[in-house]
Amino acid sequence: MSLRLSHLIGGDARSASDGGWLEVFDPATGGVYAHCPAGTAHDVDAAVAAAREAFPAWSALPAAERAAWMNRLADALEARLEDFAAAESRDVGKPLALARSLDIPRAASNLRFFAAAATQFASESHAGPGVVNYTLRQPLGVVACISPWNLPLYLFTWKFAPALAAGNCVVGKPSEVTPVTAWMLGELARDIGFPAGVLNIVQGRGAEVGQALVDHPDVKAVSFTGSTAVGTHIAEGCARSLKKVSLELGGKNPTLVFADAPREKLLDTVQRSAFLNSGQICLCGSRLLVERSIYDGFRDELVTRARAMVVGDPADAATQVGPVVSKAHFDKVMGCIQLARAEGGRVLCGGEPVRPEGRCADGWFIAPTLIEGLGPACRTNTEEIFGPVLTLQPFDTDQEALALANAAPYGLSASIWTTDLRRAHRLAAAIEAGVVWVNTWMNRDLRTPFGGVKQSGIGREGGWEAMRFFTEAKNVTIDL
Ligand code: NAD
Repeated sequence: MSLRLSHLIGGDARSASDGGWLEVFDPATGGVYAHCPAGTAHDVDAAVAAAREAFPAWSALPAAERAAWMNRLADALEARLEDFAAAESRDVGKPLALARSLDIPRAASNLRFFAAAATQFASESHAGPGVVNYTLRQPLGVVACISPWNLPLYLFTWKFAPALAAGNCVVGKPSEVTPVTAWMLGELARDIGFPAGVLNIVQGRGAEVGQALVDHPDVKAVSFTGSTAVGTHIAEGCARSLKKVSLELGGKNPTLVFADAPREKLLDTVQRSAFLNSGQICLCGSRLLVERSIYDGFRDELVTRARAMVVGDPADAATQVGPVVSKAHFDKVMGCIQLARAEGGRVLCGGEPVRPEGRCADGWFIAPTLIEGLGPACRTNTEEIFGPVLTLQPFDTDQEALALANAAPYGLSASIWTTDLRRAHRLAAAIEAGVVWVNTWMNRDLRTPFGGVKQSGIGREGGWEAMRFFTEAKNVTIDL
């Protein structure tokens, strides 16, 4: 019997109704191992109604009590870390060690971080001659949090934790491709008696559940992380009903390596930034720009390292690269590699599926792939691939590096490697991206603003930015 998931609506587990069931695949084996309810607009109506009902009491709780509930959920999650890590690894195909060290601990940190934020979020006041102003930050009501498949629980909690902390009630919609850990978290919330209706989770397809949330008149805001195509569609829907919307979308992030780059950690980090989670992280550096004087040596070392990476069973401790998430995504990434060849790119390593022996023989594995010989304007260097594929381009000057970095239509993150501080500051200011790292990558402080420019989205998450998004400012002026 395969695992049967459920929705969490008004504190109850609800089975599939009229929508039936969706198959959930194990990407490492290609087999179906679970079924997820295909939610409908009726399920969304029920969840929104439950959230509306819960809102007055939840928003009236003292912030410290909301924080206490969120910390209790984090405690319960941490107590089951191994189960959640195993489930995330199976659902996404990510190495178990990664789910254990990154995804699940970060999901717990998200809950704790925003629990603390709830207790520190304060209203501003502005005293003027003869008047005093104070600004209330009031929760919006019912909000929707729609998340993708690449970091399922990590991103789901990142979205709903600030919403709850600010006093809203949430209807969450995890990706139908990786629904398991959100379902498990819903079960945990029920087990610890989390107030009914405050956090609701409706499983199912984006075009049905997600769309119904975007269209629902009682949903006041939509926080979305996913592809630029879907994000654009959601923005249109939110514009029609004037909902607040936050969009964290795709990336095509440049990594700039100068000849004076600090060598310590450089290759390890560049390799990690390209291939972590099989390259399926919005922050992955997918375009490597290297100063020409060190280009050949750097490329050759990276090729040697990429060839040596262990691709295989995510449950195996030695595995560095698991499968990509689905057959559809496997076909997409392989199609991108084919396109790169057709555009004249030289595949330096990888470029092929990998067929591990044993239980993973039918999984969706792709060898770490490096491609050179393509200019900045081709589709390979402008479209998001979201797989274990890295392109390399040489540059001669800072100006050229900057032009290459900014040539893509996306602008999520960039990483710059140099020991020249003035250059680092100049480039950091000039690069079109919401997040810039110097001599590091994916180094995150949850207080900092997070988000992208250009096709990578609108709005910022993290710290006070998220708390502001999930509240409405109301200014009160008193004549003294
Ligand atoms: P996706 O856009 O296909 O789906 C994301 C979510 O939206 C899913 O839950 C999906 O069911 C839902 N959805 C689909 N159609 C919808 C609709 N019409 N209305 C409402 N919801 C709908 O993205 P994905 O394939 O799950 O995730 C990969 C993408 O996410 C990549 O482009 C990646 O760069 C991006 N991403 C961005 C960030 C970031 O912080 N900027 C983080 C992670 C992933």
